[in-house]
Amino acid sequence: MSLKRLLQISLLVVSLFLSSLPMSARVISVPRQPPPRTFDQPSDEKFVFGKVDQDLLSEIKLLDERFEKEGAVYHEPGLDAYLKRVGTLVVADQKLENVEWKFRALRDPVPNAFAMPNGSIFINTGLLALLEDENQLAAVLAHEVTHVSHRHTYLQNRSLRKKVLTVNILNTIANWNPIAGGAGLAISLIANVSPLLLALSMLGYSRDQEKEADLEGLKAATAAGFAPEGMPNSFKAMQRDIEGEQLNTFYSDHPKLQDRINYTGSSIAAGAKKLSEDEAKTAKTDYLALMEMVDRHDVDLAINEARFRSAVFASQKLVDLHPDSSENVFYLAESYRTLGPRNAVLTDRQLTSGAKKSAAKTRSKRTLEEQDAELLATPAGQEAWKANSAKSESLFIRALELDRFNARAHRGLGMLYEKLNRKEDAASEYAKYLELAPGAIDNERIRRRISVLRESNK
Ligand SMILES: [Zn+2]
Repeated sequence: MSLKRLLQISLLVVSLFLSSLPMSARVISVPRQPPPRTFDQPSDEKFVFGKVDQDLLSEIKLLDERFEKEGAVYHEPGLDAYLKRVGTLVVADQKLENVEWKFRALRDPVPNAFAMPNGSIFINTGLLALLEDENQLAAVLAHEVTHVSHRHTYLQNRSLRKKVLTVNILNTIANWNPIAGGAGLAISLIANVSPLLLALSMLGYSRDQEKEADLEGLKAATAAGFAPEGMPNSFKAMQRDIEGEQLNTFYSDHPKLQDRINYTGSSIAAGAKKLSEDEAKTAKTDYLALMEMVDRHDVDLAINEARFRSAVFASQKLVDLHPDSSENVFYLAESYRTLGPRNAVLTDRQLTSGAKKSAAKTRSKRTLEEQDAELLATPAGQEAWKANSAKSESLFIRALELDRFNARAHRGLGMLYEKLNRKEDAASEYAKYLELAPGAIDNERIRRRISVLRESNK
């Protein structure tokens, strides 16, 4: 196992462990001296940068550059402008020392968002795909903006230095027995840049800071003209446990989502602007239309990271939005093809914590091929594969009816037929793919597949 992977996994385990400790035993908590201020006071008045803070800031800047250099940031002019617009509205006129507000999307199918103390706010494509409208997006960004404006990372950093030796944390990581899961691209990049940041991201913010970010974020989003129910609704959207994961991301770590739904819901003023049913519907459609490109990209990322159920979820949304888009139908077909012998939606039994734990263990110990083979050896797996492959085939055919030049739909069909051992059909679909996309980067590979298929069929 690579060091990167080990760190990624260990991180996750450590953060899970810490969030299950009673509050008094937490390594990190907001400093109690001076006494806690009320939420309304702008925190920056008293924040004076010391050497420790400057050191953190320079590491953060390095990390920020690294995100861009590694191609982790998803840039698309429409999306960049949109995130900037919503983010800027939420920030309003807050100007802070050493903060330059930037709102960007990260190529990462894990639903998560996070803020760097220099004002860089990232939202993963996986979370953009899960959210349902602009009000929810504004709520997420407002939550992250509050972490920055209230200097939460610096406060955590100071507190961490006082309480724990970095060496101890690194030992803890090394001794932990990894169970499973992927913590996402962001964490692995952080792990590569600095042990200090690693420790910080591991520990996350305190419960008080999270609550503050929720409640202050709610106020900021409302003041910017967004519907306040976006905040509790964003948590509801995140409650969908599509992959049955054990992992707690930064954004949904603690307090628990249900608590957050409750306290943000009850803090919405009685007379607050409420969306009518029509407005809510329009807000959803508008947002989904804006996210169409992002969602397609996220489906690709999700499939690459074996998050097949998330891929089905996001591409189903795409098809619901534009049922006659050949491209969208193609993505749903791909998602069902790669879903293989799995069921598209987890059952209640698969969502119990025991079942999730053992599924995580299986994922960490077996390759994808081994997992598929194991599932296919069961009647349930056979049944799922039969249903998924039939669904995938009819969707590919539909995508081609909508656009007969959709080359990738031919390739997808080819791969599906190959798996179903329909060799001649597979070869002929591959040939159609090459005819339509002679310059495709996988040209060589597909050509070879065709000759192998035709050779073995003689
Ligand atoms: Zn937070």
